[in-house]
Amino acid sequence: MSKVIVSSLYDSDVFKMACRQFDVAADAISLPEAIRDRTKYPRRCLCVALPVRRDDGTVTVYEGYRVQHNLSTGPSKGGIRFHQNVTIGEVAALSMWMSWKCSLVGLPYGGAKGGVIVNPSQLSENELERLSRRYMQEMISVLGPDIDIAAPDVGTNEKIMGWMMDTYSNHVGHNEPAVVTGKPIALGGSQGRREATGAGVAYLVKKYLEDMKIPIKKSTVAIQGFGNVGSETALALAQFGAKIIAISDYTGGIYDAKGIDIQKALAYLQYAKTLKDYHLGESITNEQLLELKCTVLVPAALERVIHEKNAKKLRCQILAEAANGPTTNGADRLIEQRGDIQIIPDILCNSGGVVVSYFEWLQNRANYYWTRDEVIEKLYAILDKAKDSVEAQKRKFKFSRRLAALTLGIGRVAEAKQSRGLFP
Ligand code: NAD
Repeated sequence: MSKVIVSSLYDSDVFKMACRQFDVAADAISLPEAIRDRTKYPRRCLCVALPVRRDDGTVTVYEGYRVQHNLSTGPSKGGIRFHQNVTIGEVAALSMWMSWKCSLVGLPYGGAKGGVIVNPSQLSENELERLSRRYMQEMISVLGPDIDIAAPDVGTNEKIMGWMMDTYSNHVGHNEPAVVTGKPIALGGSQGRREATGAGVAYLVKKYLEDMKIPIKKSTVAIQGFGNVGSETALALAQFGAKIIAISDYTGGIYDAKGIDIQKALAYLQYAKTLKDYHLGESITNEQLLELKCTVLVPAALERVIHEKNAKKLRCQILAEAANGPTTNGADRLIEQRGDIQIIPDILCNSGGVVVSYFEWLQNRANYYWTRDEVIEKLYAILDKAKDSVEAQKRKFKFSRRLAALTLGIGRVAEAKQSRGLFP
């Protein structure tokens, strides 16, 4: 029997949420007690101080984290978040979801995540570059193509990944593109990586609509969060023929029952930076967006936005979790009880991003690059397989779709740990 430890280091609502998901899944597959704790808790973390010279000559010290949840199934993999509300508990929860996601879709990776407590919109480009390089410098001992591979997440992007890759490469003395994915194409980035997460979300939504016999051309979509994932999901779904009736960012949302022109909204964002004051549509709040009547609701911003207070008010038929952890466990239970909403759980729904990150890493290591069509075709094949395995697990054990996905992901990590022994 293993002794149950409770991690005080990561203590937070979002970490408890991920732990609870683990416990429910572990019970559902009768995971032996002896393997539970080491499959559940993160393996290690590094917390760093990041002094950055500001443009006015002063120095600000930021705090940064990297949490590596699991290194038993390959090098760990996960994005880096720059956001003012980042906590080590949030980063730990995100690292757990990365483990289960990589395992669910069959990638040879464990899970990790990074974060810095900073509002990147308040830094100049030069300050952001200094912060990004300093973060990589401090993390060099725990990152590497065979150890842990970084990627973009909320508040980080291709340019930041490029600075990080350059910092790492200068340190090791040779070009090492495979330490980071989501890089600019010129530095070894993959065709299709920028749009991969959104393209994957849209593809899975299309597949589930087909299963439900709902024509995509008659479906309406509301998307919370219009960053990389939200905007790429919107573009791909619009291309499939869906009508995007609402989008939002941290300043609030826009609603138009006739459909929003996504290209126009993106062009506006290029210079205005936020959707605030966007005139083509009616202004709504983020809370109102979640409660809109629509075929597909896509939370694509932060965790825990669907909770026990608004779960009963959702009016969608599909809840496509593009964000990580957007639905609290309490809300999840309420939605299951309602029985009228199909959830595409996060670790399946947004897995397109890490799948194409894996392709980028493979291309970097082989020094052989694929076309966009090749990338998208291989991405869809992996998503089809993952969706089929989730549906089979759901049918076989009469699980919810989330439990089916979690049990597959967690079960495979546990199996690897069991086979290897106590150390990894
Ligand atoms: P991003 O920084 O590009 O965009 C985030 C968007 O959310 C922005 O539009 C921002 O304004 C908005 N936002 C922030 N706070 C908000 C709030 N309180 N209410 C409403 N909107 C808010 O980040 P992203 O890369 O698009 O990531 C979005 C989500 O997708 C995150 O949960 C992330 O973990 C997940 N995800 C990202 C990737 C990826 O490849 N980037 C892959 C898998 C999952």
